[in-house]
Amino acid sequence: MQKRIALFGSTGSIGTQALDVIAANPSLFSVEVLTAQQNDELLVQQALQFAPNMVVIGDESRYQKVKAALAHTDTKVFAGEKALEEVAAMDCYDLMLAAIVGFAGLKPTLAAVEMGKAVALANKETLVVAGDLVMKKAIEKRSPIIPVDSEHSAIFQCLVGENLNPIDKIILTASGGPFLGKKPNFLVNVKRDHALQHPNWVMGAKISTDSATLMNKGLEMIEAKWLFNLRPEQIQVLVHPQSIIHSMVQFQDGSVKAQMGLPDMKLPIQYALAFPQRLPNTFPRYDFKKPNTLSFEEPDTKTFRNLVLATEALFKGGNLPCVLNAANEIAVYAFLRNRVGFLDMTDVVERTMEKVPFIAQPSLEDYFESDAAAREFAATLIHL
Ligand code: NDP
Repeated sequence: MQKRIALFGSTGSIGTQALDVIAANPSLFSVEVLTAQQNDELLVQQALQFAPNMVVIGDESRYQKVKAALAHTDTKVFAGEKALEEVAAMDCYDLMLAAIVGFAGLKPTLAAVEMGKAVALANKETLVVAGDLVMKKAIEKRSPIIPVDSEHSAIFQCLVGENLNPIDKIILTASGGPFLGKKPNFLVNVKRDHALQHPNWVMGAKISTDSATLMNKGLEMIEAKWLFNLRPEQIQVLVHPQSIIHSMVQFQDGSVKAQMGLPDMKLPIQYALAFPQRLPNTFPRYDFKKPNTLSFEEPDTKTFRNLVLATEALFKGGNLPCVLNAANEIAVYAFLRNRVGFLDMTDVVERTMEKVPFIAQPSLEDYFESDAAAREFAATLIHL
């Protein structure tokens, strides 16, 4: 039986790599849904190759173009934000790969969870914003959430077979990004192109920027809290520049399990799509016989203050992670358009966290309102 995949965010870095994995395993997977926001050309190309049941283009102004290009096929075409949610709630697929970037991924992912679908979760912002509600719903609807983020996939893999053994702590590894060891006098001059040059991973622009500011690791701490039901003090971040150990779990007896491999997102993507199976592949292997150094160091939180802000949000909870995320999205996209400097991004997030009223136990509506309020205030700081 083929697993029917709905790929939300198919034109992105995760989406295109997932399609490579699917193309390499045609007897195991079929593509039922593909979605993009603006990249209609790639969406059409993907639809012609994979013949999905449906495609959704988020940007409604591109609907006619996609519709015309696929008119001679059986693929149904939809457009708009609402359609993303409606298609996510349909019964035509088995597993959603949630690979939309940012807050926009929340509603379709929630719709899939509501339907009890299995979700391979790349979109970390979903859990950062509303992790409590999403995980509660996932348990209620028996919707398995399988992490795609390499660190969380590593922890998930370390936990297989350990159901009865409590976790002492998890150690999230961080490459440190392209500016490891750099100080504010250097960072003040950093521009978009420098920030997008990650030493180990090729990723979308938003997560690459988050990796450069260490916000990515902060978001991952919050994501890990919800995925693995941890207390904030059980989550440690360790810089490991080689990105060979993807993360570790320490158990109560002091034993530490690590998951290792070359940095290649296809591996956690494939693991999540095929779980609980492990599929053979031809991905390059890590060679222990080569001269290797695996090094570890504490993150520089004096320079990369985003990690401090995210830790505050992690400990305080409520709507603060949602506010942090919204302000960060505004700041990152402004940075990517050369509207703010590298260090300004942290100031925008910090000031927005101070400004938006704290809600200790938010409802879903509260999250949407907090997100909107944070975006509005953050935008005023950078005169958008
Ligand atoms: P990309 O920016 O490369 O791709 C994002 C995808 O989402 C594209 O298909 C894009 O469409 C679509 N999209 C963008 N905005 C919207 C919107 N408002 N509504 C609907 N769809 C939208 O991102 P990545 O693939 O790098 O990342 C995706 C998610 O996975 C992020 O949450 C990221 O944090 C997470 N992740 C990514 C990793 C990586 O290696 N890339 C590693 C771990 C996690 P279009 O192309 O048309 O703009």
